[in-house]
Amino acid sequence: MASTTLPTPSLNPDSSSDFNIAIIGAGIGGLALAIGLSHLSIPFTIYESAPAFSAVGAGVGLGPNALHAMDLIDSRFRKRYMEIATGNLKPEKRHVMMEAMRMETGLGEGEGWWGNGGWPKGYTGFERTGAHRKDLLDIMTSFIRKEAVFFNKRVSNMWQANNTVTLEFEDGDVVQHAAVVGCDGVKGFSRRIVLGERHPEHVEPKYTGKYVYRAILPMKDAKRILGDLATDAKMYMSKGANISTYPISKGKQMNIVAFRRDEGMWTGIESTKEVAREEMVKDFTAINLDPRLMELLDCAKPTRWGIFNHPTTPTYYSSLICLLGDVAHASSPHQGAGAGQGLEDSLILYRVLGRLCHTTSSSVLSTPSPERLRRIEAAFRAYDEVRRPRAQEQVRTAEETGELYQLRDKHGREVRLEDAVRTLNGRFRWIWEGDLDSDVRRAEGRFDELVKGLGSRDEAEGSARP
Ligand SMILES: Cc1cc2nc3c(=O)[nH]c(=O)nc-3n(C[C@H](O)[C@H](O)[C@H](O)COP(=O)(O)OP(=O)(O)OC[C@H]3O[C@@H](n4cnc5c(N)ncnc54)[C@H](O)[C@@H]3O)c2cc1C
Repeated sequence: MASTTLPTPSLNPDSSSDFNIAIIGAGIGGLALAIGLSHLSIPFTIYESAPAFSAVGAGVGLGPNALHAMDLIDSRFRKRYMEIATGNLKPEKRHVMMEAMRMETGLGEGEGWWGNGGWPKGYTGFERTGAHRKDLLDIMTSFIRKEAVFFNKRVSNMWQANNTVTLEFEDGDVVQHAAVVGCDGVKGFSRRIVLGERHPEHVEPKYTGKYVYRAILPMKDAKRILGDLATDAKMYMSKGANISTYPISKGKQMNIVAFRRDEGMWTGIESTKEVAREEMVKDFTAINLDPRLMELLDCAKPTRWGIFNHPTTPTYYSSLICLLGDVAHASSPHQGAGAGQGLEDSLILYRVLGRLCHTTSSSVLSTPSPERLRRIEAAFRAYDEVRRPRAQEQVRTAEETGELYQLRDKHGREVRLEDAVRTLNGRFRWIWEGDLDSDVRRAEGRFDELVKGLGSRDEAEGSARP
C-alpha cells in the first residue's frame, strides 16, 4: 500500500450553511470529483477513513473515454497523467489493448491465431495507457487543497433532516453538510443509506465467483521469464482461469493479475484472504500451466482478492446523498473500465453541480431550505439519469467479457480461443467512444428542465408561507 501523509486541519461542524459538499472517500472517484469542484471553486470537504491517501493494488489501465473525462475535468490532469502513463513498449502494439495467449504449456505458439490475437484489430482510436496507482494518486492529490481533506475520519452514520445531511464519525465527531457524495468504494456505507430502505436487496455487493492474485515484477525479471512477450499487454486464457500482464512505470515494471474461477461462496466480511503458497499454486496446476507463467505466479503474494460487483443499482441518489464510483457501480475488472467510469461520474457530477451553483442565488445556496434541497436533488437526479444506464451497462458487459477470457460465452458454453478474440474485438468501442461532451450537455439540460419545473412550486410555497 503506497501512501502520502497530510496534516489534518480542524473540522468545521456546520458546513451546511455555506454550501459545502462532503465527499466520503479519497479514492480515484472522490479525488476526481474534488479536482472538478476545485476547478469551479465549489467548496467541498473530503473525509477519508485511512490515515493518509493510499493506493490499494497495483496497475490501472485507462481507455480513451477516461482520458477524455480527465481532459474535461481539468486539462492539466490528462497532461500530467500522460507524463507517467505507460503503453505497450513495442511501437507497433501502440493501439493494442491485449493480445491473446493460452495459459497451457507452449502458450499456443504455432496455432493459427498466434501473432494475430490482439484486439481491437485495425482500430486506432484506442491507445494503450496504464499507470502505477501510486503515480496516479500523486497526480490527483497534487490538485487538491490540503485543508479540504480529513484523514482518520470513518463515517459511521449519516441522516437527512432540516434540509441538510448530518455525518457522524467513528470517533464521535458530528458535522453537517448541504449535500454528500459517497465515494466510499464497493462496500461503502453510503450505499446502505441511499438504497437500504427502498431497495434493501441491492445494498450488498455480489461475489462474482472469481478471485485474483496480484503482483508487480521488475521488467528485467519479467523479460528473463517471458522474453519478448513481457513488453506488451497480454491476456493468457484458459478454462477456469486467466492471467493479465502489462507494463507500467514507464516500462520498468510489469503488472500481473491472475484470475481464478471459484464455484463456491466467498466467506467472511473481508475482501481478501491469505492462503498457503501451495494452495495458490494448486489453483493453477489443473491447467497444465506453462512453466513461465508458473514462475510469474511464484512472484505473487498468496492473497486472494475476491471480485465483487453491483449488478443492479436502482438509483444513485436519495435526496441530498449521492453515490459515485465503485459504491454505485463496482464492476469486475475485465474491461479495465471501473476507474474510467468513476472519472465519467465525476465529470458529469461536478458539471451539474457547477450548473447548480451558477444558476442559484448565493442567498439560496448558503442557507438550508426546501428550495436548496430541491435544487440539489435536481442536480443528483440529472446525474443519475445520464450516468446510471451507461455505468450499469459496463458492469453487465464486464461479466461477459470475463467469461470470454476463460473461454466461455455468457451461457456457459465453451468458446474457442480464436472465436473469443473475434468477439472481444467488438466489445470495447462503445465504452471508449462514449460521447462525454454530449453527456455533459444532457445532464446540464436535464438539470435546467427539472429546476424550471420547481420554479412554480417554490413560488406557490412562498406565497402560502405566512
Ligand atoms: C484487480 C482489479 C483490477 C482493476 N483494474 C482496473 C483497470 O485496469 N482500469 C480501471 O479503470 N479500473 C480497474 N479496476 C477498478 C478500479 O480499481 C475501481 O473502479 C476504482 O479504484 C474505484 O475507485 P473509488 O474511488 O470508487 O473507490 P475506492 O478506490 O475503493 O475508494 C474508496 C475510498 O473510500 C474510503 N472509505 C470507505 N469507507 C469509508 C467511510 N465509511 N468513511 C470514510 N472513508 C471511507 C476508503 O478508505 C477508500 O479510500 C480494477 C479493480 C480490480 C479489483
